[in-house]
Amino acid sequence: MQSAADRREALKAVYEQARGCEKCPQLAATRTTVVFGAGNADADLMFVGEAPGANEDKQGLPFVGSAGKLLEKLLGEIGLARADVFIANVLKCRPPGNRDPHPTEIEACQDYLWRQIDLIQPLVLCTLGNFSTKLLRGDPTGITRLHGSAEVRVIGPRAVRLYPIYHPAAALYTPSMLDVLKEDFARIPELLGREAEPVPEPEPLLAAEPAVQLGLF
Ligand code: URA
Repeated sequence: MQSAADRREALKAVYEQARGCEKCPQLAATRTTVVFGAGNADADLMFVGEAPGANEDKQGLPFVGSAGKLLEKLLGEIGLARADVFIANVLKCRPPGNRDPHPTEIEACQDYLWRQIDLIQPLVLCTLGNFSTKLLRGDPTGITRLHGSAEVRVIGPRAVRLYPIYHPAAALYTPSMLDVLKEDFARIPELLGREAEPVPEPEPLLAAEPAVQLGLF
């Protein structure tokens, strides 16, 4: 079992790799900075957004523009500050003109996110909007159907409570969506207060073998 300090050091090493990343030539050429993510490396609550925008790209920090201000306000309403949580994105580089991430970019970038989750070990993993929800659930079901219902998912060696909610940018200009986002946000403290999910048992080695082979052992 790695200590929190060891996990933090390992996270810094992932950052060192990501900051020079050239896996997506277009994004590497147009970005100002790689926005790795920021916050408490041992947080119980982690948010995953879509991709950095112009402000994030300039400052090298996630969610520092208007969507970020709303996220901070919503956090404040449940008694949390930015420094209590970890905030990351599916893509670590800004897509030019804030276009949607391309599937090839998500594919190329996802390993950084899986490693972040593995090292931070959050109890609650809150996906903001469609891109992170689809990636982390491995399923194309959209946020409109899924928002507000938590489910236990096994990610790497750990079980985590995955909680999809609307992206704050989508709620900025749609008051009805903002109401829903606030309601969904208000459930986070209860999700954080639940017992940690048990570590899943490793699959028995023979589980995937055709039944007929069992007789040979
Ligand atoms: N939107 C995102 O998805 N991520 C950010 O970092 C900022 C805006």
